[in-house]
Amino acid sequence: MTQQQANAKGGWRLDNSYTRLPDILYSRLEPTPVDEPKLVVLNEALAAELGLDAAELRTEAGAAMLGGNTLPPGAEPLAQAYAGHQFGHFTMLGDGRAILLGEQLTPSGERRDIQLKGPGRTPYSRQGDGRAALGPMLREYIISEAMHGLGIPTTRSLAVTLTGEPVYREEVLQGAVLTRVAASHLRVGTFQYAAGLGVREHLQALADYTIERHDPQLAGREDRYLELLRQVVRRQASLIASWQLVGFIHGVMNTDNMALSGETIDYGPCAFMDVFDPKTVFSSIDRQGRYAYGNQPKIGVWNLARFAETLLPLLAEETEAAVELAEEALGLFGSEFERHWLGGMRAKLGLFGEEAEDRELARDLLELMQTEQADYTNTFRALTLGQIETSPLACAAAFQDWQARWQARRDRQSEPESASRERMQRANPAIIARNHRVEEALAAAETGDYDIMHRLVSALADPYAYTAEQERYAELPDSGERPYRTYCGT
Ligand code: AMP
Ligand code: MG
Repeated sequence: MTQQQANAKGGWRLDNSYTRLPDILYSRLEPTPVDEPKLVVLNEALAAELGLDAAELRTEAGAAMLGGNTLPPGAEPLAQAYAGHQFGHFTMLGDGRAILLGEQLTPSGERRDIQLKGPGRTPYSRQGDGRAALGPMLREYIISEAMHGLGIPTTRSLAVTLTGEPVYREEVLQGAVLTRVAASHLRVGTFQYAAGLGVREHLQALADYTIERHDPQLAGREDRYLELLRQVVRRQASLIASWQLVGFIHGVMNTDNMALSGETIDYGPCAFMDVFDPKTVFSSIDRQGRYAYGNQPKIGVWNLARFAETLLPLLAEETEAAVELAEEALGLFGSEFERHWLGGMRAKLGLFGEEAEDRELARDLLELMQTEQADYTNTFRALTLGQIETSPLACAAAFQDWQARWQARRDRQSEPESASRERMQRANPAIIARNHRVEEALAAAETGDYDIMHRLVSALADPYAYTAEQERYAELPDSGERPYRTYCGT
């Protein structure tokens, strides 16, 4: 039988490896059927990557599947158990409004979780209704796909399906289900849950499973758990550095929202920074600024320390020795973060090679942006286009000095000016998912008009293209639209 024949109708080829873990780690259940599933957005490129037949997904039967009324062939649905530190406080959580259908084995040999977000109540729903509203699911779709376009590891969005049912928040909203695709949904919080069970076999099974999914080269090695920790630390250092470089603020970096795969996950109150300011917070519930832009690396380490704690019993016989190993592994974060961040900044400034003053050159520019209240993305865009006169920085005397230093640094490199510009263009997005543009797309979608959203998503798919179409997305909002606030009631 050929591979194609082995696939079920629609291209489904699901495995369910999670069900082979100790059953205390999940609950089997099916999505709760909805009144009238209607597919409103489908990511055809992603469907193709997954080996799924987009035309089939667009049929009534496809919508029924994506809405949770029927199961794709081979699905063994379940909700995952996890715990987490939310704003520093430990809580038992779990998929309260998500159900994993299974893992799609893709034509290129990858394994991708297919999860419905908003499929109804689960044993972990606590007081929640297990449902999601259209606006936040579309917002996740737009921003996760924008992150993918930026080249940043992220969960993906395959589809948004209206349920035909209302959801009740502060107001009555249209219910929707997002189909989320991820390298896995293993989180720091999954380990916190497993460690809390106090059964070594459970923890070890989860750790070996994680290794199999994300670091299979470590399987069977004596030191594999320490190496897993080091890998997770490296992935997060790289991920958070890439967030900093594009001005992305996650907004809710609880330990249950940190994926061991190194993908950005959980697009709730996230947003892109406009004016450069490390204290920037968008989330209405983050009153202390715990998850402010400038705190993200620090919080990353804090979360990773919680992960390391869960692994201690697997790292060494003696706790003291285990702690020492864990601390050493956590220590990797700083140097890895710096390496990625500085490398990224060099690219953003069109610099080749390394000079000792590069870090200061980058830092000084950021400081100038902050004093002059300059837009982060558009400043780098203007530098890339050689149009800095359009920036509020242009009038600052200190900026003239900075520019002279930058020019001198570039004059010292042997690569031609054109290569430097090209490097900048590949590192500085012409556009980001600007909050007012996202809101505009969501408002139209609420009324059934998806054109604005489709145009936005397609412009964001290649943010480094510098096309004419992208120019209008680079415009800043009227000052009346700031400060922007995001809400967790997603
Ligand atoms: P989040 O803030 O999206 O990371 O969610 C935190 C926790 O709350 C997770 O366990 C979610 O599954 C759960 N949750 C969020 N919204 C709902 C809802 N409407 N119904 C049930 N559980 C929810
Ligand atoms: Mg979450």
